[in-house]
Amino acid sequence: MNIQQPWNIVFFVGFLIFYWTRHVYINRTKGEKKTISHMDRQEKLLLFAMAPTTLLLPLLYLFTPFLSFADYRLPEILQALGAALMALSLWLFWRSHADLGKNWSVSLEIREGHELVTEGVYRYVRHPMYTAIWLWCIGQGLLLENWAAGWAIIPTFAAMYFLRANREEQMMCETFGDQYRDYMQRTGRLLPRLASSRKEHSEPVTDDTPPS
Ligand code: SAH
Repeated sequence: MNIQQPWNIVFFVGFLIFYWTRHVYINRTKGEKKTISHMDRQEKLLLFAMAPTTLLLPLLYLFTPFLSFADYRLPEILQALGAALMALSLWLFWRSHADLGKNWSVSLEIREGHELVTEGVYRYVRHPMYTAIWLWCIGQGLLLENWAAGWAIIPTFAAMYFLRANREEQMMCETFGDQYRDYMQRTGRLLPRLASSRKEHSEPVTDDTPPS
């Protein structure tokens, strides 16, 4: 059992907060009807593949000796960095759920009366929830001193992110048209755009030719 170690307790508390946040928003959006759903075989497979690396392996590592063959040691400073990344991830994960409100769903879906959210953390970044999950993945790797429980989450989430983000943006463009395309110009995908490039994209095109 590794759960007695302080950094593992920190991880487990974060883990509970992460899944509690999900649980709260799954309940809040339960009754909302969907008008478009891309919950196809690929989506189901990606979500299914995430479960062992996000849930099963960390729990096996924390509460059983089965993964001890993959243990290794990390300097405390890296574990502290992992805890800081996890705290940032939890804040961003919660904020992005809160900002999306009833428009959130676990898969690629458009709900009845779906509104395009461009405020809160969505003002700067189009996929803050995915940013939060990337931060979580790195935090998990740095906190759990085990190759399998710590790092196997990276390839599964990478597959999810790289296969999904383009499809999601395409779905949003089909639903919101120019409103989403303009929004894409103003925002970064995972990180905020630099101020200069944001300005470049948002400034109206003017004709600087002096009148003759
Ligand atoms: N990719 C986003 C949201 C993930 S949840 C993020 O990382 O923060 C996935 C669902 O959120 C999608 O099915 C889509 O319907 C919805 N969604 C994504 N961006 C949105 C936005 N700006 N406004 C409203 N809904 C959005």
